[in-house]
Amino acid sequence: MTTETRKPQESHQTLWDISVPGRSGVRLPESDVPVQPMPDAALLREELPLPELSELDVVRHFTRLSQKNFSIDTNFYPLGSCTMKYNPKINDMVASTPGFSGIHPLQPEETVQGALELMSNLQDMLQEITGMPASTLAPLAGAHGELSGVLMIRAFHEQNGNPERKVMLIPDSAHGTNPASASMAGFDVVTVPSDDQGNMDLKALEAVANDKLGGLMITLPSTLGLFDPGIVEVCEIVHEAGGLVYGDGANMNALLGRVKLNDLGFDVVHLNLHKTTSTPHGGGGPGAGPICVGDKLTPFMPSPVVERDSEGGVESFKLVSPPNTIGTLSAGHGNFGVLVRSYAYLRALGAGGIRQASGDAVLNANYLLKRLEHLYYLPYDRICMHEVVFSGRWQKAQGVKALDVSKRLIDYGVHPPTMYFPLIVEEALMIEPTETESKETLDAFVDVMIAIAQESGQTPEVLTEAPHNTPVGRLDEARASRQPDVRYRA
Ligand SMILES: *Cc1c(COP(=O)(O)O)cnc(C)c1O
Repeated sequence: MTTETRKPQESHQTLWDISVPGRSGVRLPESDVPVQPMPDAALLREELPLPELSELDVVRHFTRLSQKNFSIDTNFYPLGSCTMKYNPKINDMVASTPGFSGIHPLQPEETVQGALELMSNLQDMLQEITGMPASTLAPLAGAHGELSGVLMIRAFHEQNGNPERKVMLIPDSAHGTNPASASMAGFDVVTVPSDDQGNMDLKALEAVANDKLGGLMITLPSTLGLFDPGIVEVCEIVHEAGGLVYGDGANMNALLGRVKLNDLGFDVVHLNLHKTTSTPHGGGGPGAGPICVGDKLTPFMPSPVVERDSEGGVESFKLVSPPNTIGTLSAGHGNFGVLVRSYAYLRALGAGGIRQASGDAVLNANYLLKRLEHLYYLPYDRICMHEVVFSGRWQKAQGVKALDVSKRLIDYGVHPPTMYFPLIVEEALMIEPTETESKETLDAFVDVMIAIAQESGQTPEVLTEAPHNTPVGRLDEARASRQPDVRYRA
């Protein structure tokens, strides 16, 4: 054991900086087998530079690193459109039980009836929430659900002898994955403008709804956080022109238990379980983007679908492939662990609970709208749904960008909101508090936003140079994602 004292490790230090020659964190037992020469000496490296550290050095290093992570478990995370609600730990415990975590996707069906029953029940719940008659849990993310949905729309038109229906209409407020999914599925994307209220411009829609129309992809509530009161008419216009309507239901937090998307005229919708039903996400972790499907598209669903069989009074479950399926989407049956968490969440809340969750989510967002509207410009001045989109336009006039406001929020311990999206709002700041935050947390956030608005007028350089309290300052985010350098060099 070493008794030497050392300066506490500085935050920027790597394991190499604290390496001490000869120090080790492991003590291997004496070999009890005869030593053998390597069959191919060339496989042995002369040099294998590794940092030399005690176990405690390593534990402290990685624990310190983990504490630099921003997380929903430590701080307020109002990242619009991402629904960073709190994930109850019980959901993780349930998903970790060996009966769920230890099974294999290729196990015979009769040995995993419980898992299939859970999937079947979850399908039923999602169908109840959306009002759609069928569903599959196969897509692994929201964008994956979108791709499956538009592939089904294409298959539908091809089977009906209309392969020329190649146009997919997408509002100018749409999430970037929508046009990407449509063009991956072979559609030509045509953008439909929003009107000055943030709703779909019905005249503009009518003008492009013709016999080349494959369908429309629309988000409800829109990415402006608004409920489009013309949605039923929108669906009718598309249907009358022979198209189908894809609903991006990534953010169902305002609608749970209140609106059934099927009643509005949607033909297929995806749900992001990793947003709406409280499973951990972010950083590219696993997700689930099940799709719920109306009658016209049911035969085209991707496989597998879990089917309940009650023959002879005995219930059993099996995986089936719909008759005109677009095929399989991945090696397994979806991200099963995420499905278990989602099921636990929905079971715990029940029908009344999800209805309260959506009500509280909308209430929290409107509370922030009202308390901040005199300090930050509100481009669409109407009641919002689960999120509110402000514009940093007034701050920009003081030389402060939405980016600067966001960076300063980090100093105050708040995760920045979604920025510069939707694209139709200049200097957009899209704030989604979610229902799991208390009034005290919302008030503390309002105080921070008030302080930042004052700083913007009085000491703008404090904002343009933020963050000041983080281990690293402003990063070149574009370069970090285009030229990632993830290799460690000693
Ligand atoms: C998050 C989101 C998506 C994409 O979901 P992923 O799971 O990230 O692929 C699509 N549309 C909207 C509106 C979203 O918010």
